[in-house]
Amino acid sequence: MSVFDLDAVKNVLAGNENARQILMRSEKKTILDINIWLDSKTLIVADAYVVYHNTARGPAKGGIRIDANVTLEETTDLAERMTFKTALTGIPFGGGKSGIRFDSHKLDTYMKRHLIQEFVHMMRADLVSGVYIPAPDMGTTPKEMAVIYGDLHIPECVTGKPLGVGGLPGRKEATGRGVAYSAGAAASKCLKTEIKGLRCAVQGFGNVGSWTCYFLHQMGAKVTAVSDLAGGIFNKNGLDIPALMQHGEKTGGLAGFEGDRLTNEELLSLDCDILLPAAREDVLTDKTANAVKARMVVEAANGPTTKAADEILRNKDIIVIPDILANSGGVIASYIEWRSAKSGVLTSSEEVFDFIDTTIGKSFERILALSKDRKMTHKDAALTLATEEVVAAMGSRGWI
Ligand code: NAD
Repeated sequence: MSVFDLDAVKNVLAGNENARQILMRSEKKTILDINIWLDSKTLIVADAYVVYHNTARGPAKGGIRIDANVTLEETTDLAERMTFKTALTGIPFGGGKSGIRFDSHKLDTYMKRHLIQEFVHMMRADLVSGVYIPAPDMGTTPKEMAVIYGDLHIPECVTGKPLGVGGLPGRKEATGRGVAYSAGAAASKCLKTEIKGLRCAVQGFGNVGSWTCYFLHQMGAKVTAVSDLAGGIFNKNGLDIPALMQHGEKTGGLAGFEGDRLTNEELLSLDCDILLPAAREDVLTDKTANAVKARMVVEAANGPTTKAADEILRNKDIIVIPDILANSGGVIASYIEWRSAKSGVLTSSEEVFDFIDTTIGKSFERILALSKDRKMTHKDAALTLATEEVVAAMGSRGWI
């Protein structure tokens, strides 16, 4: 779903037609046909899209997704969301995204390496000039970012690199750290209770989901349910998250871990305090949102709630903490990695986590104040603040 379908963005842009015209479109959309021969018999053909939505505030920043369902529309939506995420949190980047339409589960490390090398080959000019700075997303990992670095030898041209290859301590945990911090701050400000002891259900146990669980567990919350594509597990007393992470690392999934089984649909409608969709977009829809029993939804994934579901949750008085705040820890850490790469100054994971907490904390205070002042939802307040920032930057650059 495009953020431009949301009324808060439309309202800010209603008073500025020039800004609306620029922002409703993307600055650049590139369509690539990636063909690679793995051996003399095996050809891989994949469509790929690279979208720079808006670079008024800085270079296009956004992950590379490898997934069978990638489309140009999805890549554009995600690039737009990045424009607003970096603007809300004050990170000096613009919004970008890449999507390679291929089932990442059918690719081993060797095949992924070839695919990414071809992507680098085709996008070389933009990567070298720093116009676009990629990072991992669904289907890509620090390993693929190391391939990009290895081909270009420019430390700041890519973030999310592995430790020891210019990577940042705390980067792999960063998005989950920010999600858990957002949940803790929102519990305290909106539910008027500390997060310790609150029952949390997390959909998705990849990079974002697993590290979100880790930090929630560390903060004393009870993670009662988690799921992945194959389904989920439940324990009303709270799952043993460190053991589950070890199991996930060893087996590649949740299957075989002790606990009651539940489906992804059951997880979304579980009786809990905080629901954290951390898998993919559009999981809370007009069909699933009615059944949500949580008191608060923290959007750990990008765009997990449709516009219709937002309306349903608002009518049920369920608080929604928007993705552009909740999952901004990843891009905040990416900014530190980029800055460190440029300056050569090393940073510790403690400093990274502190910076994430402080940055999200400040943005959340601004959201709370505006939402109180104008009687808006948190999502509307976040999007209003972000849109105003982007419009101001376009003004400063003489674009409007
Ligand atoms: P990932 O590929 O590491 O993990 C995705 C997880 O979700 C896996 O456990 C997978 O099995 C599960 N999943 C996928 N489809 C599902 C479905 N239909 N139902 C239930 N589970 C499903 O991806 P990730 O990096 O953790 O990203 C997850 C989401 O967070 C995406 O929306 C991504 O754009 C967003 N995000 C990621 C980062 C980051 O730093 N990785 C930063 C910001 C936002």
